[in-house]
Amino acid sequence: MVLGVSAAHPWRIIVALIVQKYGGSSVADAESIKRVAKRIVDARRAGDDVVVAVSAMGDTTDELLDLASQVAPIPAPRELDMLLSSGERISMALLAMAIHSMGFEARSFTGSQAGMITDATHGAARIVDVTPVRLREALDEGAIVIVAGFQGFNRDTRDITTLGRGGSDTTAVALAAALKADVCEIYSDVDGIFTADPRIVPRARKLNTVTTEEMLELAANGAKVLYIRAVEYARRHGVLIHARSTFSSSEGTYVLDETRHAALQQQGDGMEEPIVAGVATDLGQAKITVIGVPDVPGKAAEIFKIVAKSGANVDMIVQNVSAAATGRADISFTLPKADAPLALKALSGEQGSVGFESLVHDDQIGKLSVVGAGMRTHSGVSATLFEALSVLGVNIEMISTSEIRISVVVRADDLAEAARVVHSAYGLDGETEATVHAGTGR
Ligand code: ASP
Ligand code: MG
Repeated sequence: MVLGVSAAHPWRIIVALIVQKYGGSSVADAESIKRVAKRIVDARRAGDDVVVAVSAMGDTTDELLDLASQVAPIPAPRELDMLLSSGERISMALLAMAIHSMGFEARSFTGSQAGMITDATHGAARIVDVTPVRLREALDEGAIVIVAGFQGFNRDTRDITTLGRGGSDTTAVALAAALKADVCEIYSDVDGIFTADPRIVPRARKLNTVTTEEMLELAANGAKVLYIRAVEYARRHGVLIHARSTFSSSEGTYVLDETRHAALQQQGDGMEEPIVAGVATDLGQAKITVIGVPDVPGKAAEIFKIVAKSGANVDMIVQNVSAAATGRADISFTLPKADAPLALKALSGEQGSVGFESLVHDDQIGKLSVVGAGMRTHSGVSATLFEALSVLGVNIEMISTSEIRISVVVRADDLAEAARVVHSAYGLDGETEATVHAGTGR
């Protein structure tokens, strides 16, 4: 709790406003809901105002999706959002009831009641405005506020929308921004953000802090603990995220903007910042190689226009030097595994007009990424990565970099061991093995 006196209203004591988000695994059954209710009540008892965003219980969303597919091969997007948004209505009402039985006032609100205004894109709506009038009223009346995560309302279509899988994180961050909360606590079944996935790298350590910039790179490259759109939103609106576990009271990881991070470093213990924040792994990508592309201007444009039209989201791209004898080059790119079939089909259809020789599809690749803001100011970071992989005898198939990230594509079978060795090479290993609850981070 933050106790202070408002300059504008000296007679008024300021309490903290905390937004808490509980993922599906934290409210999977009645017992879990009661445990979460107790946690919320404890925060309220400490004097803070509490707003909660909650996900659907356990695997409810998957079960609803499954049901939908049993009645229609391609369910209408509007109806699917009606259906899926019901999952969060169940958990929010149950949570409010559980809080009532502990003698506290709580009120639940759907996304639209909470003023979560989105665009009209069913299944992947973006939040365009938050008008939490009813939430403020409820808070002013001393109630704990519970909001259904993952959903909103579009003003033009007047329909319910959902934000995409894992969208409750975004609900929580958007509420925290709109209500100017002091912190947005994101509760799941893991202890925080780790230097690597502890299920793959047992010596992974929990980070005390990570910058939003690093978190975005980690999330975009395979780390699943925080939902990427939520981190983007937090970065844009300066929301402080605290990712922590529902099952313990220890501190998790603070996700901070660079200004806050720098301030913390200054007043910190003078310990030097590690150059690398973490190692992310991703087995979700495939590689397509377009062989024998005529080495003339415009061919890359043709190829990637075709790929884009198929709806695929291209990640890395590599073109080799063309052979002088043939005047042809190979272009390889990676994309999500699920996007590969459509991209291949689209490319095959245009083989004649583009004039390439053949296509190779490889879904046995793994992507390893090393992320750290310290890369901006330190040299030799990539050399350490390549050296570690070379000692291990792992072949690098593709390389890409950003200002604060280096990624390589290796064989899928090599990924786990490569991650362990690289983690070690950057001095990230903890003294002991991380306790792994079979957590999903949801
Ligand atoms: N219930 C939704 C899902 O499973 C939203 C969330 O969990 O954040 O994707
Ligand atoms: Mg869920």
